[in-house]
Amino acid sequence: MESGIWIVLEGGDGAGKSTQARHLAERLQGLGWDAILTREPGGTDLGARIRELLLHGEHVDPRAEALLYAADRAHHIANVVQPALAAGKAVIQDRFIDSSVAYQGAGRGFSPTEILSLNGWAVAGARPDLTVLLDIDADASLSRAAARGGELDRLEAAGSEFHRQVRAGFLAQAKAQTAAGANYLVLDATSSPEKLSEQIWAAVSQLLNS
Ligand code: ADP
Ligand code: MG
Repeated sequence: MESGIWIVLEGGDGAGKSTQARHLAERLQGLGWDAILTREPGGTDLGARIRELLLHGEHVDPRAEALLYAADRAHHIANVVQPALAAGKAVIQDRFIDSSVAYQGAGRGFSPTEILSLNGWAVAGARPDLTVLLDIDADASLSRAAARGGELDRLEAAGSEFHRQVRAGFLAQAKAQTAAGANYLVLDATSSPEKLSEQIWAAVSQLLNS
């Protein structure tokens, strides 16, 4: 039986996922939780190699791309997330299936159904206790990612029309999952980090008390 809690942060590049993941880990640790931060792609050694191939390698056919993300995810959930949950830890995860629906689905022209079915199989139906979508528009997302410096990776460089589709994909997925009964929070990523942290904490507290 799982006894930990599993929280996923979703949203475009620069939305503030890493910032909020750190805040949340600190707050949970303050309550005595053993909290781990992890991410997709790249949350395992194998995943780090897949991530490198995906983001910095040669052109990858969209179907191959979707399968590689799903393979990373299958390995990550089975080897990192499930064992941590079974050990009673709090898992704070940067990106999950909704990112694939948004990027490999909406961004590349595959239907949500195709991406969900591939990834649902990959993780044997595992679902987080809470998903937080940090919603940000394409232009704000790109300018934050650019302000962070360094070279843009292949997805960041894919253009603003691609990023508009990605945002729409995230929002549609949030709506569909909420309608299906998932514990889902959509926040305006342009709010201050402090306000976002409070909003996330309110939802997590509710989860801990339920
Ligand atoms: P992500 O992990 O989603 O790509 P980050 O947490 O790395 O996003 O944040 C991207 C950039 O935006 C960083 O420079 C960070 O300091 C800044 N940032 C994060 N959250 C906010 C916020 N709520 N408002 C303004 N800037 C933010
Ligand atoms: Mg990040």
